[in-house]
Amino acid sequence: MTADDDAPILPRIRPEIASLPVYRQGRQAGEDAFKLSSNENPFEPLTGVLEAVHAASELNRYPDALATRLRERLAARFGVAVDAVHVGAGSVSLIAQLILAAAGPGDEVVFAWRSFEAYPGLIRVAGATAVPVPLTDDARHDLPAMAAAVTDRTRVILVCSPNNPTGPVVTHDEFAAFLDAVPADVMVILDEAYAEFVTAPDAVDGLRVLGLLDRPNVVALRTFSKAYGLAALRVGYAIGHPRVLDAARATMIPLSVTAQAQAAALASLDHESALLERVRVIAERRDRLAAGLRDAGWRIPDAQGNFVWLAAGEHTEAFATAFEEEGIMVRPFPGDGIRVSVGEEESVDRVLRIAASVVETLPQGHPGRGLA
Ligand SMILES: *Cc1c(COP(=O)(O)O)cnc(C)c1O
Repeated sequence: MTADDDAPILPRIRPEIASLPVYRQGRQAGEDAFKLSSNENPFEPLTGVLEAVHAASELNRYPDALATRLRERLAARFGVAVDAVHVGAGSVSLIAQLILAAAGPGDEVVFAWRSFEAYPGLIRVAGATAVPVPLTDDARHDLPAMAAAVTDRTRVILVCSPNNPTGPVVTHDEFAAFLDAVPADVMVILDEAYAEFVTAPDAVDGLRVLGLLDRPNVVALRTFSKAYGLAALRVGYAIGHPRVLDAARATMIPLSVTAQAQAAALASLDHESALLERVRVIAERRDRLAAGLRDAGWRIPDAQGNFVWLAAGEHTEAFATAFEEEGIMVRPFPGDGIRVSVGEEESVDRVLRIAASVVETLPQGHPGRGLA
């Protein structure tokens, strides 16, 4: 008797879903380790934000399904109509909604690769076909190649700026030229999860694009998870044409944005200057980290988010183990590279020390090595 004879009969699953890798959470950090594997904000929540979450205590009541107060607040802040704002349980859920709304079986979704690891799975779940377009040698989006990858079947293009996990932004001019090159009826999702950390003056800014260029096919996505430090609560937002956002709203799981998440996001906007001061500290720490890594011999792509990219290639897993043994949890992408989040101030020297020791083992001419 083989093991298969014992196996219970399970319900049939769509084959493209059954073949997806099973989700595994990254390893949790030990006691005195630094968790630099998920691009989280190292600062604890502000007291005012915690108080707002506690005050939202009617746990027996459903939340406002359309997050009206938060949408009104964001609309006023960005000078758009309330219907031009849509709030979701993290911006990942907004990406899922928009793809589901626009792309199904037989349709294509174009995106840069390597980029946000959630994209391929979300495309597959919608039943659409993923069309990854390789990054350039300096780890940037190759927008001309992405425009050239568009076919009659393309329904959505994902642009991630700054690009997770490599770091560089798309510039405003590049993005404007890209929009001119793609059909006006293809949805372009500009995923700006790290927008608040950007210091490059020529970077694209989705809200400016929407205001200046009047492009109803563009949707800009932002989140409270990273800069505002609310990753646990799950809240992000989309800004775009109300009719496009209506389509996303039609696909959403109702009532998935909790009252606590809405309250925390509103309180974060009340305390925005204090939070953005922390973002400034993290961006400055990132620049110091990137400079130190370059001094040590690493070739680091322009880092505009709250993370840096080490193109360790075939050494990725060994180097990630070296970091973990020294109490630094990083995010390895096997065969490609390691993403290290900008965390606590005390983590910086440790990251630099380990990175300096492992870079020595890379041969001259390796893509992870600087030219110096
Ligand atoms: C973190 C991240 C998101 C969204 O995170 P949420 O917590 O779901 O808001 C979206 N896109 C990219 C590229 C990210 O890195």
